[in-house]
Amino acid sequence: MKYDFIIIGAGIVGLSTAWQLQSRMKQTRILLLEKEAAPARHQTGHNSGVIHAGVYYEPGSLKAKFCKEGAHATYDFCREHGVPCEQTGKLLVATDEAEMQRMHLLFDRCRDNGLNPRMLVPGELQDLEPNIIGSGAFLVEESGIVDFPGICRIMLEQFRRDGGSALLDTEVTGITERPDEMLVHAGRDRFRADQLIVCGGLMADRLADMQGLQAGFRIIPYRGEYYRLRPQLNDLISHLIYPIPDPALPFLGVHLTRMIDGSITIGPNAVQGWKREGYGRVNFSLRDTAGMLSYPGFWRVSARHLAHGIRQTRNSLWKRSYLWEVKKYCPQIEIADLEPYPAGIRAMAVQRDGSMIHDFLIEETPRSLHVCNAPSPAATSAIPIGRHICDMLMKRTGS
Ligand SMILES: Cc1cc2nc3c(=O)[nH]c(=O)nc-3n(C[C@H](O)[C@H](O)[C@H](O)COP(=O)(O)OP(=O)(O)OC[C@H]3O[C@@H](n4cnc5c(N)ncnc54)[C@H](O)[C@@H]3O)c2cc1C
Repeated sequence: MKYDFIIIGAGIVGLSTAWQLQSRMKQTRILLLEKEAAPARHQTGHNSGVIHAGVYYEPGSLKAKFCKEGAHATYDFCREHGVPCEQTGKLLVATDEAEMQRMHLLFDRCRDNGLNPRMLVPGELQDLEPNIIGSGAFLVEESGIVDFPGICRIMLEQFRRDGGSALLDTEVTGITERPDEMLVHAGRDRFRADQLIVCGGLMADRLADMQGLQAGFRIIPYRGEYYRLRPQLNDLISHLIYPIPDPALPFLGVHLTRMIDGSITIGPNAVQGWKREGYGRVNFSLRDTAGMLSYPGFWRVSARHLAHGIRQTRNSLWKRSYLWEVKKYCPQIEIADLEPYPAGIRAMAVQRDGSMIHDFLIEETPRSLHVCNAPSPAATSAIPIGRHICDMLMKRTGS
């Protein structure tokens, strides 16, 4: 049988696309292929669980646009389908003079992005969050928390209910584009479709390579390590507490996050990963490491951010140093309060010259569409990203 569309990847981007495409075009035959036994096993299931409001992103970028739309769409989706979520609000806290200056710039950026941030007056931080200290802070009420894997389960259910087919435990091993169809190989199985959509997250570059695309980037994995606070401290904060990030880096800094299960996590940091899908403390893949070391972009990006990399590695190896990142704004947390929590791995798309690709990146061929880069906050933005991909597909198929 020939499908109209095959979608690779049951992370939140692939699922959002599959669900929306099938619900828009009920008669269409769509096949979703995922190598794991369940959806959301990689980035989507190993993140902070935050619905971002769109604070940080370059005004006018796809990231800024999709994030703002995505936050609204995510709250609506959760309300409609009974997925746990909560609009907690987020406090961005500056702890010294340099951060105060950056905080004001970030505040302006929030406004440029159409949000309604509120600068706290002296003493207000203490009233809102008695356990947090800072030289200044502002509040973004639109931010919240959610169960992203829960959203994925519902999207998969809806996709199947509308007639879509999904094969889990099915790893795509080859892709061939022909003038009249796409051929997708999964071991000895072969699937045919008119159009292919690839949402492979950490494997985006390998899936592009399989098809022979000159994608011009490599995925470099960065580990985001977390701790969980011991349960007795679950009432420590009532908002999400974020530091003021370094604008030169795509990481938001170690934050205190209330999770949807009631616990509080600290993190993530951003250290070099040596295995794309390795979540344990010690993880190494010869293939992933060799691929990275032989790529000039890896050396260039590492050299560019050497000081940051050294600091992050020190924090990773030395718990007390990690703790210091959070003690700046929450002094009462002690080493004994930190319990282990699984890490996440970010897919960072890096070009040959060492520059990181910060915005969403979609590459097209006549019969395929590859989501090459879907960085944070792509979990928040997944509904508008999926909608955008559906629009592109409908335009090209004339539907
Ligand atoms: C530490 C961390 C914290 C983050 N925090 C947040 C946050 O709080 N809020 C937010 O909005 N975003 C956050 N993000 C970003 C967000 O999680 C990702 O941008 C988003 O989940 C990307 O979704 P995806 O579907 O593109 O990728 P993934 O979730 O990685 O899914 C890709 C899927 O493709 C499958 N796949 C790959 N290769 C193959 C193959 N050959 N055959 C079949 N299947 C294949 C994989 O198994 C996987 O299921 C965070 C990310 C990290 C790592």
